[in-house]
Amino acid sequence: SSFRELQLSDAIQDALAAENYHTPTPIQGQAIPHLLDGSDLIGCAQTGTGKTAAFALPILNALEQGRRRADPCAPRVLVLSPTRELATQIAESFRTYGRNIKFRSTTIFGGVGQNPQVRALKRGVHVAIATPGRLIDLMDQGYVDLSQATTFVLDEADRMLDMGFLPALKTIIAELPKERQTVFFTATMPPKVAQLAEGLLRDPVRIEV
Ligand code: AMP
Repeated sequence: SSFRELQLSDAIQDALAAENYHTPTPIQGQAIPHLLDGSDLIGCAQTGTGKTAAFALPILNALEQGRRRADPCAPRVLVLSPTRELATQIAESFRTYGRNIKFRSTTIFGGVGQNPQVRALKRGVHVAIATPGRLIDLMDQGYVDLSQATTFVLDEADRMLDMGFLPALKTIIAELPKERQTVFFTATMPPKVAQLAEGLLRDPVRIEV
């Protein structure tokens, strides 16, 4: 199979060709059609399987379709990552695959000054890629409005719980609209992770690679 068979826009197809991506990885081939349809999804996948593009490509496709909407004040997409390294990589992937699409994104993580992140949020972003701790900090200060986030991605959920982020996750999730698309990735599925997924996802497509 090839990316041409997936219903992705020319802008995205061109970006993939520029990256020399020809064939979707198994998780991409399985996930992308369902995510384009708006389904919730739970994927059991390790890093290196192409899971970032599996969620970034359909998100970018949807952002491009909605591009005539007024510039957003509040994020339409929230991606949560356990670490700043992963958040940075995800942000780079969005920029690479979305190079032909007009959209704004910001990373939100600790260990660096908050001012650039606050400025980006004030200017307005389509996509916020955050670690839970700093996101909560900025929420507490009133800088983050999650009420417009129609897509929520939880990446490396098992690692997130291992790092003690469950209370932070609960606070963040409570601020998201009930009506949304949720994408959940984890490398392992111990009971605690399955339980978190159960409460988050609506009739999800399940994928294991
Ligand atoms: P990830 O699992 O999202 O961390 O991606 C692993 C690596 O595979 C990244 O360096 C991507 O750039 C690369 N990659 C993802 N999808 C494809 C694809 N369809 N073809 C070639 N390389 C890919």
